[in-house]
Amino acid sequence: MSQDIRVRFAPSPTGYLHVGGVRTAIFNHLFARHHGGRFVLRIEDTDKERSTPEAVEQILDSLRWIGLDWDEEPVFQSQRTELYRKHLDRLLEEGKAYRCTCKAEDLDAKRQKAIAEKRTYKYDGTCRELDPKRDLGDQPFVVRFKTPWDALPDSFTDLVLGTIPIDEERLDDMILARSDGSATYNFCVVVDDADMGISHVIRGNDHLDNTPKQLLIYEALGLKAPKFAHMPLTHGPDGSKLSKRREEEYRALGISVSVQEYRHMGYLPHALVNYLTRLGWSHGDQEIFSREELEKLFDLDGVGKSAGIIDPDKLKWLNSHYIQEEDTDRLSELLLPLLIERGHKAEAGPRLDAVVETLKPRAKTLVDMAEQALFYYQAPTEYDPKAVKKWWKANAAEILVQLREMVSKADLDDGEAVEENLRKLADALVEGKLGKVAQPLRVAISGSSATPSLFAVLGILGKEETLQRIDRALAELAKRD
Ligand code: GLU
Repeated sequence: MSQDIRVRFAPSPTGYLHVGGVRTAIFNHLFARHHGGRFVLRIEDTDKERSTPEAVEQILDSLRWIGLDWDEEPVFQSQRTELYRKHLDRLLEEGKAYRCTCKAEDLDAKRQKAIAEKRTYKYDGTCRELDPKRDLGDQPFVVRFKTPWDALPDSFTDLVLGTIPIDEERLDDMILARSDGSATYNFCVVVDDADMGISHVIRGNDHLDNTPKQLLIYEALGLKAPKFAHMPLTHGPDGSKLSKRREEEYRALGISVSVQEYRHMGYLPHALVNYLTRLGWSHGDQEIFSREELEKLFDLDGVGKSAGIIDPDKLKWLNSHYIQEEDTDRLSELLLPLLIERGHKAEAGPRLDAVVETLKPRAKTLVDMAEQALFYYQAPTEYDPKAVKKWWKANAAEILVQLREMVSKADLDDGEAVEENLRKLADALVEGKLGKVAQPLRVAISGSSATPSLFAVLGILGKEETLQRIDRALAELAKRD
């Protein structure tokens, strides 16, 4: 394919960026990059009540975070009223659209009747054949499309779903402009996509019903229609449509409807890109793709037809993979604000890069990592009761006294020597069972029974801090006696 590939992502700025929406954006972006084309943004902000500048900013911010750069200044529909008006006037002049003065209450009564008779409601064309030049006085009117019932195409081609039949029953003389003169969604999209030179419309398949309507508008305006590709939707772990109302449940699983939340939950942007792309597209059995690989390999023929079901465990697995791959300095930068949020004083305590090195193999998210890092910066004030019960037995004080003695003489940077000393202590005190000396020490220095490698931790904490923590644990044990 050539340089003429132009695709767009067209969010409505009425709230956060939806995770399903960003997947569509990712597909568009990858398609553009794969074909050397352009990826542009259109902000569909015609709903004046619900669109806000904050929502625009939040959407752009989420796109930046996930690494979807756009190639041109975003287009705002709210600034294009004149363009829509011009095209509407043309359709009216050419008799391809008409003014309709049907009253809302009459239409509603007809709709209710259709429902009662179990028929699909369609506008009955009351105003369709009236004199287009008649004087309406100050009566409000909408502009309707004059559907060319005798010349409807049978189907259209979707690049993912194949041939899609066009069902006459689902069409009627749709409203192109409301009584306040503002153009409606399907009309704006056609005018904009044509004006912006969009070659491929790649969007969620919840828009599948709009495509025949838009094709008819292209035809009426004499504009060349783009190619269409409808993407499968993204569903929640139980297989049903993602719903904001279930957000609490999702958060407990480590997912969300909102892209911004993934950042707050400690996912790395590329982990989310890899996960969401793979959820609707495949390249054999491969699961892990670098950004470069995705751009090289992605095309519409690998996109599946059925909805993708979010699997939080797989997302976390990918995230931990990318955490392990990430440069330690970069991870430290990402982690610092999370530690500060949790009350850690950045300037005090051990070097963050050394801490990160020890946590990289274990953490599933940056939030996990921040939580696991805290003990390095804060001596325990509480000791996990389960860990205490299991590891601080009657001989715990004796073991800790001996450990204190060992630590005070050891070079804690020499992990091997420390291990050797611990083994000797274990031989002397607990029949060689290393865990029986290592675990009481772990509880003493961290308050819990799980930390990264004990030898690495001791090296990072340093002698003075380790001794203080042992003393504190001994005092705690004395209190418990
Ligand atoms: N603004 C529409 C939406 O957010 C997208 C329209 C389109 O892609 O054609 O669903």
